[in-house]
Amino acid sequence: MIGAMRDVIVAANWKMNTTPADAAELARTIVSRTREAGVIRVICPPYVCLAAVGEAVADEDPPVAVGAQNVHHELAGAYTGEISAPMLASLATWVIIGHSERRRDAGETDELIGRKLGRAVGAGLRPILCVGEQLADREAGRATDVVDEQLAGALEDHEPTALADAGLVIAYEPVWAIGTGRNARGSDASEMADAIRSTLEHHGWGSRTAGVPVLYGGSVTSANIDEFFSEPAIDGALVGGASLKPDEMAGIVARAGMTARARGAAR
Ligand code: PEP
Repeated sequence: MIGAMRDVIVAANWKMNTTPADAAELARTIVSRTREAGVIRVICPPYVCLAAVGEAVADEDPPVAVGAQNVHHELAGAYTGEISAPMLASLATWVIIGHSERRRDAGETDELIGRKLGRAVGAGLRPILCVGEQLADREAGRATDVVDEQLAGALEDHEPTALADAGLVIAYEPVWAIGTGRNARGSDASEMADAIRSTLEHHGWGSRTAGVPVLYGGSVTSANIDEFFSEPAIDGALVGGASLKPDEMAGIVARAGMTARARGAAR
């Protein structure tokens, strides 16, 4: 399944950190230290910082994408405090969907996540769909079954062509690795990336499967990123805690740049 030219991506998930003023400053610092040909940089700040980050990175070359961390599954209506895909469309071009913190804290189900995917694609946003198992699942040897179920539940109502055309990205984020300082092994992430692509094929994706970027996320740092980029099946990282630290981002994106050059993605 390796061989397709896939995007090399480093996406920063800032979670519930930064004010608009902090975010603009941090974004300017990070982008000035991460200019690498062939690497797609995506910054996903809190909703209220999207505009500030968008302005801060507007003139960047290579360009920097701005992403939201979530989107509502309806277009409009009586959903106090929520943000819909059409509202995001002028502020972001990417969106994270199904992050495990939202599955945990907001009770998001695979079915709901599937509806969010549809809204994202409908509004022209590029989705990063997060999947990943709990520690107990991995210890019981059920990690791939869990991820397979998550994918099947989220993707079942979608035409592969629509999602492939929208540039669907899948982030494998084992829940036990997120924010814990305990990252997965590169070989495990690679095996899961193969399993994810097998699931897509099984669901009728055919040759489109080979073009779907799979990212690893879970306690990624500049010290361990090499382990993931050494794996041809892994196309980048979704970075949480370390994405708030310019030194860390500089190291992670520098390694991504080497990968892009080696894989011919840097043009
Ligand atoms: C994440 O938020 O998606 C994440 C992977 O967090 P961290 O890098 O902090 O584990």
